[in-house]
Amino acid sequence: MLIYATDHFVLPLPPGHRFPMAKYARLRERVAAIAPDRMREPPAATDEELARAHDPAYVAAVTSGTLAESAIRRIGFPWSPAMVERSRRSAGATIAACRSALEYGFGVNLAGGTHHAHHDFGCGFCVFNDAAVAARAMQAEALAARVLIVDLDVHQGDGTAAIVGHDPSIHTLSIHGRNNFPFRKRSSRQDVELDDGTCDEVYLATLRVVLPLALAASRPHLAIYLAGADPYVGDRLGRLALSKAGLASRDAYVLDTLHAAGVPVAIAMAGGYAEDVDDVVDIHFETVRLTLERGAVACPHRDVASCHRAGSRSSR
Ligand SMILES: [Zn+2]
Repeated sequence: MLIYATDHFVLPLPPGHRFPMAKYARLRERVAAIAPDRMREPPAATDEELARAHDPAYVAAVTSGTLAESAIRRIGFPWSPAMVERSRRSAGATIAACRSALEYGFGVNLAGGTHHAHHDFGCGFCVFNDAAVAARAMQAEALAARVLIVDLDVHQGDGTAAIVGHDPSIHTLSIHGRNNFPFRKRSSRQDVELDDGTCDEVYLATLRVVLPLALAASRPHLAIYLAGADPYVGDRLGRLALSKAGLASRDAYVLDTLHAAGVPVAIAMAGGYAEDVDDVVDIHFETVRLTLERGAVACPHRDVASCHRAGSRSSR
């Protein structure tokens, strides 16, 4: 399996900006230390790929720097050519992670999960919606007809829901805090709202009910998993109370359940805003480490489709 990093494409931020950009380089350093041969630089998403999920006029305005001041404020990052390149690479990394998943069973984008980006505007640090762009890319290339998006970032995937929520070929599951941003939620296929302070036990019990339902309803050829670090108890923006061990159990359950069902999984990191950025990096790193553990043994003959067919035959 391959791992895509985009932190070399720095998005310049003014001093004191609250987005924890430092997490990406630290995460890449820790992942590269255990899997140096898996690391790749992703290609940038093309206009054609972006336009399958976004209004071409929006893509053009982002690219040329002609967004209105209010539209830039809504995104929350200052515009620069580097911001455009970084956003395209991040969407390209989820596309590349999907390709890795379809070949090897798993693939990882060490960024991405920009689920507040809508069809024709960006929002909440999200410029392009990588999951929607990647799902549509795999469909357009006839690599996956049905896609399941499992969004476990603590915030609702409102942009994803707005773009693909009514597309019967892309099933969206979002488990999020009821009282979190965005305050105007959009309808995913499956939305699960959790109360403030939800702990590991309740979260995991909920996940064990709804993920099998999502799988049964969608029968996907590919899953894209947004493994947000922000349900963590120490997160400044999340309102849930999961421990690091609870988040690792969440990841293991999602990866094992999807893999047991023969579904390749592309993983994106999504949000994480703990006071100490190293807590965020710890959580994301564990997600990647658990994926590597499974990726190393999952499909040794590099043909995930036949491996899964063989696996499902032998398990019957
Ligand atoms: Zn979030």
